[in-house]
Amino acid sequence: LPVVAVVGRPNVGKSSLVNRVLGRREAVVQDVPGITRDRVSYAAEWAGQRFTLVDTGGWEKDAAGLDARVAAQAEAAVALADVVVLVVDATVGATATDEAVVRLLRRSGKPVVLAANKVDDQRGEADAALLWSLGLGEPWPVSSVHGRGSGDLLDAVLAALPDELLASRQRPSGLRRVALLGRPNVGKSSLLNKLTGSDRVVVDATAGTTRDPVDEVVELAGREWQFVDTAGIRRRTHQASGADFYASLRTQAALEKAEVAVVLVDGSEVLTEQDVRIISTVVEAGRALVLAVNKWDLLDEERRHYLERELERELVQVRWAPRVNLSALTGRHLERLVPALDVALESWGTRVPTGRLNSFLGQVVSEHPHPVRGGKQPRILFATQPSTQPPRFVVFASGFLEAGYRRFLERRLREEFGFEGSPVELGVRVRE
Ligand code: GDP
Repeated sequence: LPVVAVVGRPNVGKSSLVNRVLGRREAVVQDVPGITRDRVSYAAEWAGQRFTLVDTGGWEKDAAGLDARVAAQAEAAVALADVVVLVVDATVGATATDEAVVRLLRRSGKPVVLAANKVDDQRGEADAALLWSLGLGEPWPVSSVHGRGSGDLLDAVLAALPDELLASRQRPSGLRRVALLGRPNVGKSSLLNKLTGSDRVVVDATAGTTRDPVDEVVELAGREWQFVDTAGIRRRTHQASGADFYASLRTQAALEKAEVAVVLVDGSEVLTEQDVRIISTVVEAGRALVLAVNKWDLLDEERRHYLERELERELVQVRWAPRVNLSALTGRHLERLVPALDVALESWGTRVPTGRLNSFLGQVVSEHPHPVRGGKQPRILFATQPSTQPPRFVVFASGFLEAGYRRFLERRLREEFGFEGSPVELGVRVRE
């Protein structure tokens, strides 16, 4: 993992900045015991990039011989860092010690990101700007007390990391993988063509990676997405006889590789059994799901009315899936696909902390206990979420829970924690 070291003289707010970075919901992963007493490293994550954050703490403790210690610490941290964050107190400005550290950092040749700390308000921005004088480029104003600016600072840190260390540039699996599914003639190839159209960039498979040649990387909303098994869509193999069988094999193979499926249905026609079957396959495969109702340009008021009732009736089991009403022909609402994919993928990867899960379930169960059956009432003891993608919960109970009650629990979990666009699994273990 790339290593990011935070250095700075005493009292500039270095440690609170580190805590701020780690305390962000997105950033924390876990503590790692310090490499030495004076240096502590943490596993951190920002924007999907994992890195090791090294806090060069301990300078504060020893006032005597400070300069030498500062130098030694900075040197050690810098030696092992890929990027250094130099924290300066913007309210004080650059001191002689700061300048000494800058000289040392410069000699190391490592990229340095300058954090101008204690910029708690608009006025502080002017103080921050004065730090251009350190010759380290743009000072990033942050307030480790209010959390202001720390996201921008982290973006700058990631931007300063050498390319070969970045996860997204290392592995094609950093791309989100999408399967575009639907029965013949719903408009899959039309949609794919529209999405890869001349106004958007189609990126070739990167050399040296094992990306499947039948996949296409498509840039949408400024990001790259891997559409899996698009050759099958473009080739229209499904017109052959025995089409259903091969189509369903292909659907399964695509789901195997995908994280999220966009299931296209034809809004101008009655929903068919095959549409419903494809949607069930996605749920059974445990993939995130976005529903796209195509050919919206053909629908009149009356058809729309009936369509709503059909969807409501046929697709109750995926009421949680985000839906986009679009037209591959006119391009209507295509821009809504990416936000829907983002929501579904985020839900798919959600982990509920065990404490929160249990305090919530405790409350639900006390308000709505399991019904008494045969003189017995199963008690719910404890729940955990052992895995994500999709979220899977295990409830430990003193007896068997009936299907209706399990569905009730799942519904309440969804109401509380969202999971829009993702299947949720709920298992029960009976403990005597
Ligand atoms: P696929 O078999 O799912 O790949 O479907 P195609 O993309 O080949 O589309 C089947 C037919 O529907 C073609 O004649 C398309 O022109 C037409 N079509 C696709 N999308 C739309 C749409 O949004 N509106 C209308 N009116 N026609 C569409």
